[in-house]
Amino acid sequence: MEILFKKILHNDVNFETEFENIKFFGIAKRESKDLVLCKGKLRGNILHTCDRCGEEFSLLIDEDLELFASDGIYKKDDSLDVIEFENGILNFETLLVSEVEAIKSDYHYCDNCNKI
Ligand SMILES: [Zn+2]
Repeated sequence: MEILFKKILHNDVNFETEFENIKFFGIAKRESKDLVLCKGKLRGNILHTCDRCGEEFSLLIDEDLELFASDGIYKKDDSLDVIEFENGILNFETLLVSEVEAIKSDYHYCDNCNKI
């Protein structure tokens, strides 16, 4: 799903997008002149290789997520989790993919290893 930044004004916009087996849905709201806050839920599962034993397992994802999308390059505050879009179009799938990549790059252990 994509939306033009300029279409997100005072009204919140509902969004829903999907990547692999993960859904990201919620509302997008105008935060400042070039920032839009995307607030919602991340749900689904990722096939992950256990970082302890190497077995593949299905990692359940169910979390609240807040991400900022900026209309153009954003340099003002490094502490914010901001994804930049340069063509004036907010692509929710891009947000989701970047979050999924971040989750994948974290360490996760299968049920058996979690019990140790
Ligand atoms: Zn394991």
